[in-house]
Amino acid sequence: MAEAFALRCLGCGREYPAWSVDYFCPHCGFPGGSLEIVYDLDAPPHPFPNHANFSLWRYEALLPVNLRFAPPLRAGSTPLYAAPQLAKALGVRILWLKDDTLQPTSSCKDRGTAVAVAAARKLGRHGLCCASTGNAAASLAGFAAASAMPTYIFVPKTAPLPKIAQLQAFGARVFRVDGTYEQAFSLALAASDKFGWYNRSDGLNPMVVEGNKTVSFEIWEELGDVPDAVVVAVGDGAVIAGVCKGFLELAQAGLVKRVPKVFGVQAAGAAPLAQAFHRFRGGKPLLPAEGPATTIADSICVGKPAAVVPAVKYVAKTHGDYVTVNDAELIAASLELARKAGIFAEPSGAAPLAGLRRLLEEGLVSQNDRVVLIITGSGLKAPQAVLGHLPEPPIIPPDIQDLSEVIKACS
Ligand SMILES: [Zn+2]
Repeated sequence: MAEAFALRCLGCGREYPAWSVDYFCPHCGFPGGSLEIVYDLDAPPHPFPNHANFSLWRYEALLPVNLRFAPPLRAGSTPLYAAPQLAKALGVRILWLKDDTLQPTSSCKDRGTAVAVAAARKLGRHGLCCASTGNAAASLAGFAAASAMPTYIFVPKTAPLPKIAQLQAFGARVFRVDGTYEQAFSLALAASDKFGWYNRSDGLNPMVVEGNKTVSFEIWEELGDVPDAVVVAVGDGAVIAGVCKGFLELAQAGLVKRVPKVFGVQAAGAAPLAQAFHRFRGGKPLLPAEGPATTIADSICVGKPAAVVPAVKYVAKTHGDYVTVNDAELIAASLELARKAGIFAEPSGAAPLAGLRRLLEEGLVSQNDRVVLIITGSGLKAPQAVLGHLPEPPIIPPDIQDLSEVIKACS
């Protein structure tokens, strides 16, 4: 079944044969002409999942590329933890954490990258590129290194240095753009056109959403069912589009009877998708989604999201919604997640926890709902976000006789 698909424009509905177009509908342009990959899903795919494979390629039957093109790093198969301490603190009955910080390059972006790099290998492209706020770039650089493909990365110069270090360690050629993420995105698109590199940029390449959707397949497989609500941070929109598409395809194939509500969490200072969604719900035109972008959560600091059409339309199909949280809530969530679940996430990775509080306050999620939070990126990628909010540990003499006073001061 893998590779039996068509590309459909989310703007005008035109369909294109598999592999005939790379990124967007030639008729509608970008971003209005985002493409989605569609399969013939009248019956469940087979075999699904393939129990012999322990990566996201166990869902090969619902992926656009054949396993034989898969890059060597293992993406997917991350743990789903019960989180009783957090459930108690929030007052919800059942809460799970999908820990996507445990991917090869420590973020959920490895899912989309795995499928995009496989597509580039199938197409015989000689180079890879992307624009990224950091995590997608690190992901592409790592998978490209493992696949012996050169990579060209365009990041806004504000990208945190630990993330740039990760890119350079993988051997990527890095261009720090003295401008916004959106400007980096345009440069990457022009460069991929000119040099024939395969462009993995979030929101541009429909293969990325196909990898991203496997997180939903894993949640379904592990629970043997779907939860009531799934909450995930949103920057460019490609991750939440994938989360929704995964559940929608499970329902379309008759593998589940209902689809969980999918909720997106944006930083209050960078919330164009939340605004676009609420305009769309109000019957107003979807485009353009553009706004200011300022937040401590650099991974979701996007003022002009590229995946606006899928990120809005798919969330509406799941009857989900968008909420926003401020930077103080993001920092608090990062520390609470670390202290009550043992997962150190960057502020965007912890955003679903802050978002769930808001969703409960607004009555969009009920205390009886079974909820999954997707934790998308490791805190080790952006430790500076919390460092300023933590006390400096005391320096003590090595021959200290009595630690009691120091212990008292620390508690
Ligand atoms: Zn179109």
